[in-house]
Amino acid sequence: MAVSAKPTAFAQRLIGWQRRHGRHELPWQGQPADPYRVWLSEIMLQQTQVTTVIDYFDRFIKRFPNLQALARATEQEVLALWSGLGYYHRARNLHACAREIAFHRAGRFPESAQALAALPGIGPSTAAAIASTVFGERAAILDGNVKRVLARLTCAEQPWGSPALERALWKQADDRLPKRSSDMPAYTQAIMDLGALICRPKAPQCGRCPVASDCQAHRRGQVDRYPVPRIKRAVPQRQLYWAVCSSAQSVWLMQQPSAGIWPSLWLPWTIDPDALPRNWDKTITALQHVIEVRHSLTHYRMLISVAMLRHDGDQAPAGAPEGLKPFGWAEALSLPLPAPVKRVLARLYPVARATDGGPRRSKPA
Ligand code: SF4
Repeated sequence: MAVSAKPTAFAQRLIGWQRRHGRHELPWQGQPADPYRVWLSEIMLQQTQVTTVIDYFDRFIKRFPNLQALARATEQEVLALWSGLGYYHRARNLHACAREIAFHRAGRFPESAQALAALPGIGPSTAAAIASTVFGERAAILDGNVKRVLARLTCAEQPWGSPALERALWKQADDRLPKRSSDMPAYTQAIMDLGALICRPKAPQCGRCPVASDCQAHRRGQVDRYPVPRIKRAVPQRQLYWAVCSSAQSVWLMQQPSAGIWPSLWLPWTIDPDALPRNWDKTITALQHVIEVRHSLTHYRMLISVAMLRHDGDQAPAGAPEGLKPFGWAEALSLPLPAPVKRVLARLYPVARATDGGPRRSKPA
């Protein structure tokens, strides 16, 4: 792979294009750039599309208008607002980072990418995005969009996700930076916009691309070949069973430990498939409603069988684990919930209300 145009010319073409055709109305953009807003947006944008992030960003800014407000919040408040955005370690790191800066750094963000990358939840690309956008540091970003652009520009043959591709593209990203630090905010935004608006995963708009003359894949007519797909591995599937104990008034949930895939979030009673009650099958058929939910994580897929278990009263259902607690439905829906739990409760709430007064059953085992 070789850089096919002078880096400065490449950067200037991108910057010129961004001024005319890039995005200038995103809620975290502004002059001068606000480190709190840029940092918050960059954490949310890790593994999430801009269109999804905008609503969450607006809600966060309304509730936590500055770093101090976020630092003073409880972790549960932050998780509740993050609920549905996924990858919950981001929310916990966001909170830890806010507290670190507010309470131990006099509320000031470090100004170099290297120092930013030492804070919770800020990797090298996020650190570079903040440092270049807010402080004009000559630091290269390499998020998913930029990787795709650079892989096409250079016909990178290494498969997606491989360390070799990462190494090659970091070098490309560094080599293409503009010389002047005053150009860095516009350049960083430009390369992100190019990936999001023009060099999209499917059907890239090469005819409108400001760097098409530098693009090896375009020149060879092989845009569809790049990036080279990741080497496929079978994705394992895990079966889970949730029992949603509920009545028209309340639903029982339990908080997860602070480590794991859903740290500190609230889930229904999760039943270990290896320790299913002896008459589980019989119980299922006696329940009011059984649905299946699929949910994908990075390394495996989940198939979740959800049973709705009618349960009134203040006492936990027989056989339930410690920590299962009743909540009114409205309160339950405002707790920090993983996306599939949110979906399940939204589906079951009308069922619980509609079937109130029907046959009661409270013992799954
Ligand atoms: S020419 Fe096409 S493939 Fe190459 S960078 Fe531009 S949009 Fe992407």
